[in-house]
Amino acid sequence: MLIGVDVGGTNLRVGVIDGLEVVEEYRVNADFSGLCRNNTPEQAVRAIHAALFEALSTSLDKHPAVTSIGLGFPGFIVSGLVAQSPNLPGLQDVDLVTPLSEGLGCPVIIENDALAAAYGEYHLMGKKGAGLVYLGLGTGVGGGLIVDGRTFPGEHGVAMEVGHIIVEPGGRSCGCGNHGCMEQYASASGVSISYLEATGRREDAHRIAQLAKAGDVPAIKAYALAGEYLAQALVHILKVVDVAHIVIGGGMSVAWPLLKDSFGRRLDADLIPALRGKIRVTLSQAGDQAGMIGAALLSTPRLP
Ligand SMILES: [Zn+2]
Repeated sequence: MLIGVDVGGTNLRVGVIDGLEVVEEYRVNADFSGLCRNNTPEQAVRAIHAALFEALSTSLDKHPAVTSIGLGFPGFIVSGLVAQSPNLPGLQDVDLVTPLSEGLGCPVIIENDALAAAYGEYHLMGKKGAGLVYLGLGTGVGGGLIVDGRTFPGEHGVAMEVGHIIVEPGGRSCGCGNHGCMEQYASASGVSISYLEATGRREDAHRIAQLAKAGDVPAIKAYALAGEYLAQALVHILKVVDVAHIVIGGGMSVAWPLLKDSFGRRLDADLIPALRGKIRVTLSQAGDQAGMIGAALLSTPRLP
C-alpha cells in the first residue's frame, strides 16, 4: 500500500492507495496559501512541514503496510526540491522530502501536482499508448506530460506550465507577471472574471455553471470563452509535443459540457492539418483523485 497526497492551496487530501484504488481518503484543512502570504518563508516552511508530518504520521499509524509516500505539490519541482510556487509565494528551493522521510521513517517523494495527476491517469488508462497530455482545470490550469510512459518535468520543473501560455496578448494580468495567460480565461477563476466583466457580478465558477445551464447568456459565453482559449493553447502544445491523447481533469472538468463545443470548434479550426482527426480528448478517469493516485505511484521504484 502507498500514500498519495494532493497538496492544495487551502487543503491537503491524503489517499491510501491499494493498487490503483483509493481505499481511504481524508481531507485536512490547511491554508498553505495564506500561510505563505502572511509569514516569513521560514515560518511558512515550518508550518507546512508540521501539517504534512501530522497528517502523514496519523495515516501511517493506521496503515502500517504503507511502504512509500508521494506528494503532489503545486509548484516547480526540481530534483526533489520545491524550486518555486506561484500560488505559495516565498518558497524557494525548499526541501520538504528529507525531513519528512527521516521523521516518518518512510520514503517520501515530491512531484508537481498536475504531473502526478497525468501519471495517475496514464496508469488508470492501462498505460495505453506512448503518453498523454493532462490538462487540469481548477483555480488555475495545470498541465502534465507523459512521454514513453514516463513523466516529463523539464529541466527547471516548468515543462507544461500551460496555464501561462499567452492566448490574448495584452489581455488580463496574471500572477506570473505576464498578461493574457490562458488560465486567466480557461480556469475557474478565469470564468469568474469573464462573468464579472460582462455583468458586474462576482460569482464562482460553480454558480456560473448553474446559471449557464439555466440559459443565462453571459454565463454561457464565459464558459464558451474558456473552451475556446483552452483549445487555442492546446494547438500550440500539440505542435511541440505531438501526443495523440489529451485528458481533461481538475475540479472544473465537471462543467465540460459547457466548454466542449467551443473547444471542439477552435481545435478543428486551428489544429495543424496533419493532426486533424487524430487527437483524442477524454475526461479524467479518476476525477479529482488522479493526483493522489499518481503521486503514490511515483513513490515506488520505476520499472525500466
Ligand atoms: Zn501567467
